Amino acid sequence: MSDRTKKLGAYDKEFVWHPFTQMKEYEEKSPVVIEGGEGAYLIDSEGNKYIDGVSSLWVNIHGHKVPEIDNAIKDQVDKLSHSTLLGVTNPPAAELAKDLIEICPEGLKKVFYSGDGASAVEVALKMAFQYWKQKDKPEKVKFVCLGNGYHGDTLGAVSVGGIDLFHSTFKPLLFESFQAPSYYCYRCPLNKEYPSCDIACATELDKILSEHNDEIAAVILEPYVQAAGGMIVSPEGYLKKVRESCDKYDVLLILDEVATGFGRTGKMFACEHEDVTPDMLVLGKGLTGGYLPLSATITTQEVYDAFLGDYEEFKTFFHGHSYAGNPVSCAASMGNLKAFENYNTLHELQDKVQFLEDELKEFGGLKHVGDVRNKGAMVGIELVQDKETKEPYAPELKMGWKVADLAMEDGVLLRPLGNVVVLMPPVGIPMEDLKKLVHVTYSSIKKATEGS
Ligand code: PMP
Repeated sequence: MSDRTKKLGAYDKEFVWHPFTQMKEYEEKSPVVIEGGEGAYLIDSEGNKYIDGVSSLWVNIHGHKVPEIDNAIKDQVDKLSHSTLLGVTNPPAAELAKDLIEICPEGLKKVFYSGDGASAVEVALKMAFQYWKQKDKPEKVKFVCLGNGYHGDTLGAVSVGGIDLFHSTFKPLLFESFQAPSYYCYRCPLNKEYPSCDIACATELDKILSEHNDEIAAVILEPYVQAAGGMIVSPEGYLKKVRESCDKYDVLLILDEVATGFGRTGKMFACEHEDVTPDMLVLGKGLTGGYLPLSATITTQEVYDAFLGDYEEFKTFFHGHSYAGNPVSCAASMGNLKAFENYNTLHELQDKVQFLEDELKEFGGLKHVGDVRNKGAMVGIELVQDKETKEPYAPELKMGWKVADLAMEDGVLLRPLGNVVVLMPPVGIPMEDLKKLVHVTYSSIKKATEGS
C-alpha cells in the first residue's frame, strides 16, 4: 500500500464519521479510497478497478466521466456556480424544469427543487398537508405509507418509513402514520400467494382509505420497487389499484421515484409501467446522472393552484433550501438528459435487462438463493439459510457482506441490504461489464454460501 493511501486512510479514520456504517468495525479495516471513475468502473488510490455494481449508491446513470455532463458542469461553472431560487431564477433551473415536465407523466406541471431525496420527500409531505388546509379540509393531516418503505433519513421521511432496523430508534420523535402492508410477495405479510391473492395488499390499503380518508392527506410509496426495503418488486397492477383508491377517496398520491427514476426499471419512470400519474412525483439521485445533489418534487397544476393567493393570505409554501435549483446541479441534470438522447439509453437498456433476466434464472438454482427479483436493472437476490422454510441467515453471519467482500476481490463493488445482494449498475453499463458483474456476483454467492 502506498504512503499516500496510508495517509488518506489515517485521516479518514481519525476525522470522518461515515453514514450507515458501524465505525467500530470500519476502524479495524484499511479504508478503500476511491479517487477515479471511468465508465462503469471506479478506481481506488492503489489503481485497482471495480465495477460500480450499485451505481455509487443508486445515483450513477451513464457511468463516470460522461462528456455531456462533464462539459455541462464546466461550462456552467464559468458562468455562475450559485444564486438563490428564492424570488429569482437562473437559466439551468428554468430550462431543466421545462425539460423535466416534457418527460414526466402527463399532468405534472410544476417543479419544486431541493437538494437531496429526503428533502424532496419532506417537501411533498408538507405540501400535501398544506394543500388540504387550503382546500378547506384541515383535518386531512395523516399519511399512509408501506411496510418496508423507505423515503430518506430526515424526521418526516422517517415518519413514513417502514424499515424497523433504520426507523424504530427514532419512534418517539416521529408523527404517526397509517401503515399498509408491503407488496413483498416472497414473504407476503398477509400470508397469501400471487396471483390468487388478487393483490390483497392493495385491497388492505384501500380499506385504510375507506375507513380514514377524512383524516388522510396522502399515500406515499415507492412505485414498483421498494429499494432500501430489499429490492422488493410489486406485482403488476398494484400501482393502478392504489391510484384508483386514492381517486375514489380523494387522497393525494405521492410517488417516490428517488431510486426508481431515470431508467432504472426499464422506463424513464416506474409509474409509466402502469400509466399512472401521481399528484406529486419525487425525484433525486439519478436526476443529475449521479454527479451532484439535486432533487425535485413535481406536482400537478391542481396542487400548485391551491397555494396561489394574495400575499397576506399566507398561502405561500414557506419552505426552501439554500441550494435549491443550484445552476451547476441543474446544468449537470440537463447533461444527463442529453446523454439519454445521445446514447439512446432506454432503448439500449432493453437488451441488457433481457440478459439480466436470463442470467438471473441461473441464480435461482443456487442452494441458498431463496428469491431472485428484478424490475429492469434493479435486482435483489435474497439469500436464505434454508430454501424450504425460507429461514433467513442470522444477522451476525453477515452473509450479504461476505458476498460483497468476495466480489470486491474480483473487481466488483457491491453493497448488500442485509441478506439481499443488490445489483443496480449504471443504466448505461456496457454489456461486457454487465456480464462481468453478473458472473462475479454468481461465483461470490456460491462461494460465500456453499464454500466453493
Ligand atoms: N427515497 C428513496 C426511495 C430512496 O431510496 C432514498 C435514498 N436511498 C431517498 C428517498 C433519500 O434520498 P437521499 O439519500 O438523497 O436523501
